Amino acid sequence: MPVFNTSVDFAKHLDQNDALASCRSEFFYADENIIYLDGNSLGRLPLKSKSKLDEVINLQWGERLIRSWNEKWLDMPKKAAHKIAGIIGAEPEEVLICDSTSINLYKLVLAALHYQPDRKSIVSDELNFPSDLYIFQGVVRLFKDAYQLKLVGSSNGIKPDLNHMKDLLDNDTALAAFSHVLFKSGYMYDVKAVTEIVHSAGALTLWDLSHSVGVVPIKLNEWNVDFAVGCTYKYLNGGPGSSAFLYIRRDLIVKMENFISGWFGHSNPFGFDLRFNSSDGIEKFNCGTSNILSIASIEPSLDIITEAGIDSIRKKSVLQTDYLIYLVKERLKKFGFEIGSPFSDQERGSHVSLRHNEGYRICKALINSSELQTNVIPDFRMPDNIRIGISPLYNSFVDIYSAVEAIEYVLANKLYERYNYDNEKVT
Ligand SMILES: *Cc1c(COP(=O)(O)O)cnc(C)c1O
Repeated sequence: MPVFNTSVDFAKHLDQNDALASCRSEFFYADENIIYLDGNSLGRLPLKSKSKLDEVINLQWGERLIRSWNEKWLDMPKKAAHKIAGIIGAEPEEVLICDSTSINLYKLVLAALHYQPDRKSIVSDELNFPSDLYIFQGVVRLFKDAYQLKLVGSSNGIKPDLNHMKDLLDNDTALAAFSHVLFKSGYMYDVKAVTEIVHSAGALTLWDLSHSVGVVPIKLNEWNVDFAVGCTYKYLNGGPGSSAFLYIRRDLIVKMENFISGWFGHSNPFGFDLRFNSSDGIEKFNCGTSNILSIASIEPSLDIITEAGIDSIRKKSVLQTDYLIYLVKERLKKFGFEIGSPFSDQERGSHVSLRHNEGYRICKALINSSELQTNVIPDFRMPDNIRIGISPLYNSFVDIYSAVEAIEYVLANKLYERYNYDNEKVT
């Protein structure tokens, strides 16, 4: 790790030595003067996704119409799923692209519970993404409270209490489901270690990779993970609402049943058999027709990530989040900011939460104030977290330097006081 300093020349020096600097030109910039630090919520648009979508819309849909299913579209989800498998350390036949993360989670939770009917609890943590918790609650309601949801607590809102987790896991646990990287604090679990602990209680594990895939090395096979889900519109840059993915370890696929059994999970969807006869492979977890437009837009970014190499991406990400934390300590502490993320690299994903009681209005000022030389787009998570999401493929060290400078300016000049507390629908 270099010895950081607070000069802009140092940021430029880091950029000059950045092996991934050229990846930036693979993405579209409508306004070079905006610093985008929200790639953990919606990744930027790859230039090749633009041209790919153009081809799919004009040629494949416009011209070839239904013939495109056989010519291009039936293979498209599989091709993208194979590329995702390479990024998450899985075999191609263990990964499927379909539906949203939440729906995939629901399908896998039902499958896991059905597989071990004598075990009646699901373990997760109270820092997990709320949609995941809503899905578990829905399952509990469905079975009229025959199941219990147990949540691992946290003393500091940053990191779940692993001793509490060990207390909750027992021979009644069917499934332990956590997010690899937590959406608010950015805490990163040791998936291998926790999976081992869960397995020793005889339970299955499910990891939500939404906040880690594409930016953190993932080795699902090596870590012996049972199930995983993840979204493709964050660090995978697949576009708003692009189809999610799911993973099932190879030996478990034949044992699992999909209870949202639609026609694309059938062994022969176009046989129009009146009885559901499940496909043998991972395709059994399909439900309806693939969302071709969204899957077409995922592929180009998967190529960029594969080419850059996940280890190089991680190396840059660690340096960038370290640099950001350093600058916050040096320049923003005096304004009352606290770091709401782990300080240790091994425990941190690629975003850093800055906590401030005026966080919401500070965010608004960063995005909207015309007094700033450059506007900055981070995002805000209740009650006081400004999330700075760093995507090493297109964020430079100067981006980070300039963002800290903009935050300093907003605080020094109290620009946030000109904004109100009205909530936007999406924050
Ligand atoms: C973003 C995210 C999701 C997204 O869920 P969708 O159903 O695809 O909208 C799910 N889980 C986690 C942990 C996330 O960060």
